[in-house]
Amino acid sequence: MTEAGRTIRPLVAGNWKMNGLRAQLGEALKVRDAISVPGAAAADVMICPPATLVLPLVEAVRGSKLLVGAQDCHWEPRGAYTGDIAAEMLADAGAVAVIVGHSERRAGHGELDRTVCRKAEAAHRAGLAAIVCIGETAGERRAGLTLDVIRRQLQGSLPDSARAANTAVAYEPVWAIGTGLTPSPEDVAEVHKAIRQALAARFGAEGAGMRILYGGSVKPANARELMGINDVNGALVGGASLKASDFLAIVAAYHH
Ligand code: PEP
Repeated sequence: MTEAGRTIRPLVAGNWKMNGLRAQLGEALKVRDAISVPGAAAADVMICPPATLVLPLVEAVRGSKLLVGAQDCHWEPRGAYTGDIAAEMLADAGAVAVIVGHSERRAGHGELDRTVCRKAEAAHRAGLAAIVCIGETAGERRAGLTLDVIRRQLQGSLPDSARAANTAVAYEPVWAIGTGLTPSPEDVAEVHKAIRQALAARFGAEGAGMRILYGGSVKPANARELMGINDVNGALVGGASLKASDFLAIVAAYHH
């Protein structure tokens, strides 16, 4: 529920990162089959495989409830950008969403908020939803700067084209990604509340209805607690999304 009392259907999205050869598609098919049982999924479920697997996964899950997303895109629709992929190409392959602004892109590829903003805008232009990642580093948290960082990243990374239907914000503390560490439920609640307030202030009812995902070491053992926090509308899952049984156990946090 949002502060306004509107129900937001949660999204559990798996980010496979640079993991997965074609043989890994079998894990995605297990997820497809498990969530396609009538009444099974109380959340939308998405897998974002590496670019080489987007099309084969789209073909393998066609007609099922499993959604296919992608990881990162260029902001231009075409051109001389060797090695990059346009949002239009991902949409053409059948993806419905793309992750932008992941901390591994921000840190490893020097992406700034304005780059992330252009990428999110490109996703919207191509008809994709943008999963826009934000999050503080350990040093920023220690310095008490978490909410400042979050607000600055939100302001700079979200384009004016953001709507409830085409944008999810993923709060991913950098120090929690792939480390097994997670913030306390109180800390998650504080940040998600601040994100909701910022979204509602800028985008009105659309911001009140946008999904805010939590990401960073979500596992079967902590999913129910994290997903039960106010204004947590789902999860972005890295490592635990590679194994169907773990990913499905996280999805199951939404069953009751
Ligand atoms: C991520 O990279 O989006 C992520 C949340 O990773 P992990 O679940 O492995 O911490």
